[in-house]
Amino acid sequence: MNKTLLSILVATSVTLSAQTQAADVVNVYSARKEALIKPLLDEFSANTGIKVNLITGKADALLKRLQVEGSASPADVFITVDAGRLHRAKAAGVLKPMSLPALEQRIPAALRDADGYWYGLTLRARPIIYAKDRVDINQLSSYEALADSVWDGRLCLRSSQSVYNQSLVAASIDAIGKEATQDWLDGMVENLAKPPAGGDTDQLKAVAAGVCDVTIANTYYLGRLIKSDKPADQKVASKLAVFWPNQSGTGNLGRGAHFNVSGAGLTKYGKHPQQAQQLLAYLASDAAQRWYADINNEYPVVPGVAISATLESFGAYTMDPIALQILGENNRQAVQLMDRAGWR
Ligand code: FE
Repeated sequence: MNKTLLSILVATSVTLSAQTQAADVVNVYSARKEALIKPLLDEFSANTGIKVNLITGKADALLKRLQVEGSASPADVFITVDAGRLHRAKAAGVLKPMSLPALEQRIPAALRDADGYWYGLTLRARPIIYAKDRVDINQLSSYEALADSVWDGRLCLRSSQSVYNQSLVAASIDAIGKEATQDWLDGMVENLAKPPAGGDTDQLKAVAAGVCDVTIANTYYLGRLIKSDKPADQKVASKLAVFWPNQSGTGNLGRGAHFNVSGAGLTKYGKHPQQAQQLLAYLASDAAQRWYADINNEYPVVPGVAISATLESFGAYTMDPIALQILGENNRQAVQLMDRAGWR
């Protein structure tokens, strides 16, 4: 081959590959820690040749950044936790509604936005967690029953600033109405063993230490303690058990335990919508669902995907079938009721 032709061929292939690289990219803003998502993104890149640029940060800071960047934002996909926060992103106008049949076929309707602004990708449970040695489980039944006087001075709760608790209360408003929810909150606040402080893990540690006997927490925090290689964590976990509330009872009392999601949406100004859609479809695939749920001890959103032995050990449950976008829609009312109850 003559030298000129060769150099033209080389030049052409360099240009082409540069173009392919420029197009085959997807930029992700993730409120999930790198360890909880990066290996999946690497697998996606290996399968598709699409490069993923990952920026991680705190949920509220990333949302603010999307708002400030506006149409100049490089982000194509926004990943965050809690339907309350996904709804905030929708309301802030940073997401683009997209009907994605590949995801609609796999993810139950309740676990995604009806207009396609966001899709749930992992499922997290928020049941009652109690001290095995001090609680008679016959006295446990529903979230509402934690307002009963039998729990006076025995309840620990995380702050009402936590979107997890706001979403729990938002679901209650939908199920039993504002008045009954207010009564429930007033009763729980009276039963507190101490003022709310710390995260879910701190509540679990307080129950294990005997500061209180019951709390409400996401099960993946318990899963993390169970799987920890620190003996102190394992000791905490060994004192605790999961109780699935609202599994029976008349009317809405039997609605099922509270669940929430982590999820993702396409950004309003994303420059790589095709690649972004491919990425979301990949995250809903069986293999990705299994890994993504397992790494944080969560449940897959896609029905039929196997769950880990740790989750199996928490037992079977009925889940509140509420459409999770209602958690976002009721958020402001929930915060008002929590304030009124004096839940700090
Ligand atoms: Fe969490």
